[in-house]
Amino acid sequence: MRHEGKTEARLSRIRGSEPPRRHNARTIAALTSNPGCARRAVLDAAGVDKERLAERVGFPAAFGQSRFAIVRGNAFERQVKADGCAELLRLLRDLLALDLRDAAYTDLGADGSGEGLDARHVAARERLTRAPGGEDGEGNPGGEGNPDGALFDHPLLRLEVAGQAVYLEPDLVAFQHGGAFHVVEIKSFPVIDGQADAEKVAAAAVQSAVYVLALRRLLGRDDAVSHEVVLVCPKDFSNVPVAVRLDVRRQLIVLEHQLARLTRIDTLLDALPDDLALDLGQDGAGTPVMAVDALTAALGRVTARYAPGCLSTCELAFFCRREASGRTAALGIGVREELGGVETVAEALGLAHGTATPDDDQAESAAMLRTTARVYAEALGAMPETPAGGAAG
Ligand code: SF4
Repeated sequence: MRHEGKTEARLSRIRGSEPPRRHNARTIAALTSNPGCARRAVLDAAGVDKERLAERVGFPAAFGQSRFAIVRGNAFERQVKADGCAELLRLLRDLLALDLRDAAYTDLGADGSGEGLDARHVAARERLTRAPGGEDGEGNPGGEGNPDGALFDHPLLRLEVAGQAVYLEPDLVAFQHGGAFHVVEIKSFPVIDGQADAEKVAAAAVQSAVYVLALRRLLGRDDAVSHEVVLVCPKDFSNVPVAVRLDVRRQLIVLEHQLARLTRIDTLLDALPDDLALDLGQDGAGTPVMAVDALTAALGRVTARYAPGCLSTCELAFFCRREASGRTAALGIGVREELGGVETVAEALGLAHGTATPDDDQAESAAMLRTTARVYAEALGAMPETPAGGAAG
């Protein structure tokens, strides 16, 4: 426990005067897509606002939702949840073929009690485990669940990430008669003619898998939460919601594997300088606590593991890409693995052309690079020459 407090104090010193950004399913999904990156792990654990940090150091992120899309998404979610989730109940009834006329609706985040995260999590656990399908619910002596089903809004879940407990708040959890919970995700990207953007669906599936895992851990049983989540999106170009089932079994396997691979946050902190700080706050006069140069230098003290996939998952991608330029790792995980021991593109070219001598660790990569260079040169030599001024014909 004392160790936990020490870790929290250290993370708080790194973040400085700013309030922490809470982890969510998207940040956990992104973290597990690049589990070897200490920079992201430390920044997320400390709750540093990476989007603002990227802006401050001159490399603003090029992804994320526009303000308009966020407003539209919130309006869509409100619409689906209006009147005790009447619209959602209709969708679930049709999709899951259930009689949910008398389903109970409970908003676990709406009491405005100002309770802390721990207390809200304990309260959510109590309510969910009392529901049918929970440890003390239907099928267990003393259960008091509603046989017509129940919807729980904003349950505060918890997941262990790199040895640190993080809190998560899914849009909703729906209960099914069969004794299993279904996670419901409400997204604002459209389903047009039965098809949605594959990349967005893939991201929603990973995020939903995070919630399924957290809910399974809360309830203490894997079979208490279905691997089929319900995705609710606008239909075609309207605001009419449509619900589809999404199987997240594969995402769950990958997620559990990647979470197990994450280095503990206290181990990562032990390797960092004691005075590391990434404070984005301002003093009383409105002057930034840390200048841009100091922030850039501090970022450079935490090891990154850039890969092209970072461009779609991490706010610091442009900063890390510039930092990694000229390194073989920047060409992707495949290249990094193929060229183990060959750190830079210049080194790789030297080995390919025989102008550099490989050490023992590089011998295999060097042989492959020489073969590739020879085949490439032969292929180029076999190609008909292109007349000056453009293509023939
Ligand atoms: S962009 Fe940088 S900090 Fe983010 S995951 Fe990639 S390497 Fe790590």
